[in-house]
Parts: sequence; structure tokens; C-alpha cells
Amino acid sequence: MNKFIPYGQQWIDDKDVDSVVSILKSDWLTTGPKVKEFEKKFADYVKSKYAVAVSSGTAALHTAAFAAGISKGDEAITTAMTFAASANCVLYLNGKPVFADIDKETYNIDPKEIENKITKKTKALIPVDYTGQPCDIDNINKIAENHDLVVIEDSSHAVGATYKGKKVGSLSDLSIFSFHPVKHITTGEGGMITTNSKEMYEKLLLFRSHGQTKNPKKFVTSNEGDWFYEQQELGFNYRITDLLCALGISQLEKIDDFIFRRKQIVNKYNEAFNENDNIVIPTQKDNVESSWHLYVIQLNLENLKVNRKKIFNELRLKNIGVHVHYIPVYFHPYYQKLGYKKGICPNTEWLYNRILTLPLYPKMKDEDVDCVIKSVIKVVNNYSKN
Ligand SMILES: *Cc1c(COP(=O)(O)O)cnc(C)c1O
Repeated sequence: MNKFIPYGQQWIDDKDVDSVVSILKSDWLTTGPKVKEFEKKFADYVKSKYAVAVSSGTAALHTAAFAAGISKGDEAITTAMTFAASANCVLYLNGKPVFADIDKETYNIDPKEIENKITKKTKALIPVDYTGQPCDIDNINKIAENHDLVVIEDSSHAVGATYKGKKVGSLSDLSIFSFHPVKHITTGEGGMITTNSKEMYEKLLLFRSHGQTKNPKKFVTSNEGDWFYEQQELGFNYRITDLLCALGISQLEKIDDFIFRRKQIVNKYNEAFNENDNIVIPTQKDNVESSWHLYVIQLNLENLKVNRKKIFNELRLKNIGVHVHYIPVYFHPYYQKLGYKKGICPNTEWLYNRILTLPLYPKMKDEDVDCVIKSVIKVVNNYSKN
């Protein structure tokens, strides 16, 4: 049998390794020049004015939520079809995540549903570019403008994706990215926040490093001497090391090739599954270009004799590393304990029961892609009602 094909995996080459080793031998392991260089190169890539590198995508969300001004009692509206961190960052600041339902075509948060959830307490919107397809950001920004809200775009899936020809990362007040190994580029753990606002940028820097500043121009008390610094907010140590930023720089050089390969695989999948009555392939809007973090199919349950679990288990038995992205956030026991009820986002829950993530990563070989296609078709057709 074929060896296990995971749903996602990094691609590290000798150049990546050399770039990290050279930093190990240098003077700066952290807070050094590679951090600034990675930030500059990432900002240039997405065409944002500022970028702040942090220790994870989750740290990026927490830092962005702080910069957005979320505090006790504030509400922030997000999707439940996401990794829990998109919502957890609101809880970290004693705010309340509010879940708005998704559009059944794109699986992204539906701007009309956002409007239904806005209250006097709403402070921010946290849309997610699910699977790499940019959310409906123009309409989301319009809603934010009308209600004086900050938009934090969770673009963990969407490095290199475009919306109306513009790169994700330059479209909202704050955008966040993750460099976990399954994402487009990796630093092992790592994240980035991009913004065009100087004011936001300064808040991000403060929060990343304990809420402390060494910049005398920013002091609110008098400068007592060269040793002096001030803690002005309660921040964290969310810094990322120069070792990891060197890896990030090296990975970023390959981003266009990585995305190209992802699209090649997606085209093969689309072609293979398009005509199959048991499978619904991902719908893409005309004005966007996904960078394809995930390839998520919908099982046409009405056409099948079995449920998703059966199909999932049979594919796993064939060593196909299928997965499910995501369990609706408020299904988790922690959220249930907070009082969130099942049923609040019917489209999200409907989708959850029928999705399956297929393996997709640039290092994936053609023979692996063919193996996934063959296995998926064999399993679903075996349980087809017709
Ligand atoms: C990966 C991911 C995160 C968290 O990123 P980490 O780097 O793992 O902390 C947040 N949101 C979404 C949508 C993600 O996919």
C-alpha cells in the first residue's frame, strides 16, 4: 500500500537549513536584524506599510486584537468555520466572540449575517480567508466604516491570495498570518501582523514585548537615563527569534513557486471530481484568486448511503490523510460552558457535517495526487445511491 499522505506538510530545502545555521553562528539570536528584514520583505510582498513578526499566528491574533482596542465587555464578530484561535483572541482580552454564519457557496463569513449581529458593544470584525479564498472584504470594510469597527482579517490561510487584484495583507486595518508547518511558508512556529496604520503598528510593537518601550520619544514620564524604559501596557513576550526569521526569509523567496504547485494540484482535483455526483468541489468567486491552503470537498450526502465519518475512516484506512476543517468553534466544550448554544449558525453546522479536507502541499508528488484521486473516487462511488 502507498505510504501515509498527510493533509499538509512543510517543504524545507538545504538553502533553508543553511540560512538558519548561519544565524546560529551570528551575534543575534533574537531581536536582531533578521527580524526586521523578514518584516520588511513580508510587508513588501503583501504591499502593506508595516509588518510585525511574532511567535505564532495565535500570538498575532492576540496582538492584533489588543491593537484593535478590544477590552472587557467588547464584542467581536467572527466565523465559527475556523480554527478556535480566531475567536479565542477575543476571550484573552475579556471580550466576547460573536459568531456570524457563513455563505453556503464560499464558506466565508456572510456580510449580511455580520450586520445582523452588530450591537452597541461591537468593537471589531474578525473575518477569516477560509481555505485561502479571500473573504468579501470590500463589503466587510464598508460595514466596519458605517459602525466604526476595526477589521482584523485572519489571513492564516491566504498568504499570496488576491482580492480584486490586490494581495491579502493590505486590505484591512490589521491582517494576521501563521507560519505553522502546514501553512504556505513556515518558521516552525511563527506569525505576522500587517497594517497600514502607524498608530496600530506602534501598539503591535508594544504588546509584542511586555508593553514596554525603550523609545525616549514615547516616554510618558521623564527619561532617567540610558538604562531607562517604560512599561505602559500589559503586554507579553511574543517575540520571534532571528533563527526563525532567517528561515521565514528563505521560505518567502519560494512562495510563488509554492502557490503555483498548490494550484496545479487543485486543478487536477477539480478536473477529477467536477463531474462526480457525490462530490461538490470548492466554489471560487470571480474577483478573487485563492492561494489554496486547503482543498475542501463537500460530500453530497443526499447521494450517499453513508455519512462523512464512514468515508473519512475508509480513506484513512487507505493511508489518505484526510481531515476536517473545522469543528464549529462554539461546539467545543469550553464554548458550550460559556453558554454558546448549538444551532446559532445553521449554514456552518450544515457544512461541518459534509466536508472533507484532501491532502494539499507543494512537495506532494503527482503519484500521490493520483493516489488521492483514485482512492476518493473509489470510496465515494462505492457508497453512491445510484
Ligand atoms: C493556523 C491558524 C491560526 C493559528 O496559527 P498558529 O500559528 O498555529 O498559532 C489561526 N487562525 C487560523 C484560521 C489558522 O488556520
